[in-house]
This record gives sequence, structure tokens and C-alpha cells, in this order.
Amino acid sequence: MEKFQTVCPYCGTGCNVDIFVENNKIVKAEPTKDHPVNDGELCLKGMYGWEYVHSPRRLTKPLLRKKDGVFSKEGKLEEVSWDEAYKFAAERIQSTVDKYNPSHIMGFSSARCLNEDNYVFQKFFRALGTNNVDHCARL
Ligand code: SF4
Repeated sequence: MEKFQTVCPYCGTGCNVDIFVENNKIVKAEPTKDHPVNDGELCLKGMYGWEYVHSPRRLTKPLLRKKDGVFSKEGKLEEVSWDEAYKFAAERIQSTVDKYNPSHIMGFSSARCLNEDNYVFQKFFRALGTNNVDHCARL
């Protein structure tokens, strides 16, 4: 069993967690002892919130709601390529900005992303002309 020290991704506190991996699967997590942030303690999310990593229900590919091969709100979710997903999102954002104005779009990111990811995300939306940017930590 190998041990990897990493940062808990669930909130901005920055607790360190030791992840134990066996046969390429996480088998347990423990708080990093003597770490200046959490000093051997973890909340329930940090301690047990890693099981999703190996869940067969985890989304790993983009899905688009389609009916008869094209997007439809009444359609069923279908797996699509990343290129198709990006193209669809870009066209929808652009058409909304063109039809209305940039204040009609917003970006909603995740507290589970890295600071650098969230920085680029908010920069992208501000470059589109809107300050409507938020993330799930405020819910
Ligand atoms: S263990 Fe809990 S408090 Fe610490 S970073 Fe993770 S979610 Fe936040």
C-alpha cells in the first residue's frame, strides 16, 4: 500500500490528508499528523468523501440532451465528444450575448477547483463582458 499526502479538495481550509492506495485504488484516508493547518484532524468530508473517485456513476464524459440527433430540452442525455460539447456551449453563450448582452450570461464554478482554475474561469467570463461569476461555496 502506498501513501500520498495531498490537500483535501472540499473547501478552502487546506487540510492535508494522507491517501492510501492499493492496486491503483484509494482504500483509506487519514489526517496528516503534525500538519500546521489541521494537525491530525479531518472533518467527515475529508475523512470519508473520497469514495466517489471509483464510483461507476461518476461522470467522465460530457452529456448533451438530444432528440432526433439535435439538442432538445425534452431530449435524453447522450454522451458526446468534448469537441461537440465545447462547440455547443460556445455557440449558446455567443448567441445569448449577441441577442441580449453579456449581463445575460453567468459563470458558476466550483469550490473544488484549484485557485488557478477559478482564476482562469472568472477571467474568461469577465473577458466576455460580465461580472456575473460565482461558485458553489456560497450555496
Ligand atoms: S477536511 Fe473538511 S475542513 Fe478540512 S479542507 Fe476538507 S472539507 Fe475543509
